[in-house]
Amino acid sequence: MTGILPPDLAAWLAAQAEGIDAGEVPAAPILPRLADAGLVRIGVPAALGGSGGTVMDAVETIAAVARESLAAAFMLWSHRCFVEFMVHTPNAALRDRLLPNLLAGRLAGASGLSNVMKFLAGLEPLQVTARPKGDALVVDGVLPWVTNLRQGGFVVAAAADPGDGGPAMILALAHDDPGVFRSADLALMGMRSSDTASLRIEGARIGRDRVIAADAPQWLPGVRPAFLAMQCGLPLGLAQRALDEAAGEGGAGRAVLAAPIAALRARLDQIAAALETGLAIGSFVTRPAALFELRIALSDIVFQAVSLELQAGGGRCYLQGPGGGFARRWREAAFVPVITPSTVQLRTALDALGRAA
Ligand SMILES: Cc1cc2nc3c(=O)[nH]c(=O)nc-3n(C[C@H](O)[C@H](O)[C@H](O)COP(=O)(O)OP(=O)(O)OC[C@H]3O[C@@H](n4cnc5c(N)ncnc54)[C@H](O)[C@@H]3O)c2cc1C
Repeated sequence: MTGILPPDLAAWLAAQAEGIDAGEVPAAPILPRLADAGLVRIGVPAALGGSGGTVMDAVETIAAVARESLAAAFMLWSHRCFVEFMVHTPNAALRDRLLPNLLAGRLAGASGLSNVMKFLAGLEPLQVTARPKGDALVVDGVLPWVTNLRQGGFVVAAAADPGDGGPAMILALAHDDPGVFRSADLALMGMRSSDTASLRIEGARIGRDRVIAADAPQWLPGVRPAFLAMQCGLPLGLAQRALDEAAGEGGAGRAVLAAPIAALRARLDQIAAALETGLAIGSFVTRPAALFELRIALSDIVFQAVSLELQAGGGRCYLQGPGGGFARRWREAAFVPVITPSTVQLRTALDALGRAA
């Protein structure tokens, strides 16, 4: 998996990882660096300007970046999701207009779909409305958390209620739409150079040419497997790196950790194989529960992996300098369960499916 990244990119990410986490380096160049290495094109059909391959190839790419920096990998995930929405939108004109700049990393794509994921699971109402006015849509609302909102140019996917009883739709909003306001970066405990902010939308008037999908409940299940599977790349890469760090620790007494490290590695391999099979045969579209279970399992494994890194590293991990990489991975691991759909939401959904069966 390490071989996916060109060596100069892997070295750059490794050198920047602490600064990206602490907010000490600018966020804007991160995605263009990843795009320059061709990472955004992986898993995108060649006919659309990609380099071909499968969604699993994109998962492995995100995992390779997550080995170095979860924040950079999450930016890639967010961007790659928007690209996936373009691949699957029936709006070919929008795709043709946005995709070249997205694939090249000149435009940052963001996925503001937390709200609609919760909405479809019956957890909260939609927080954005898009009321028809003549040929246009007038959009109002708030997206409290969105990553990859590059100051110089972003496009974000958001779900909106048309207010006329029709289905929710998925829209593309842009950084320079009048009425779209980005907050300052949120004061996060880590992953601070990730262009994570909130968006306030007040009377933004956009054309219907910005509709990614007119019927979100019907369209989203088709893109959900890629959305969730690419999320799985985040804990996969982070856990593998933590286990490598744990295994790399020498010293008396550490031999006792060899068996749990090997067991966790084997479990990660099993999960990656299950992901690959489910994506290849398309079973996650009709049976999402299997994918939910894999993501929950990865959330638990990532904590076990950083805990093994801590146990193997001992007190050194608690020192600011030598323990910096561990401390960052510890904070990065804390993000994994809250990524939408959060593990609480996924467990709730599984519970409901279990009761319905
Ligand atoms: C660094 C960072 C970056 C983010 N980037 C993005 C992004 O790019 N795009 C995006 O859309 N979102 C993003 N988010 C939002 C993230 O996905 C949210 O944290 C997530 O939606 C959980 O929402 P919450 O924290 O408001 O949870 P709360 O609403 O406070 O709920 C707490 C927990 O309970 C769960 N929960 C709440 N109500 C229910 C219920 N009725 N049934 C079952 N479970 C429930 C929640 O999912 C959560 O796990 C980001 C968050 C962070 C921290």
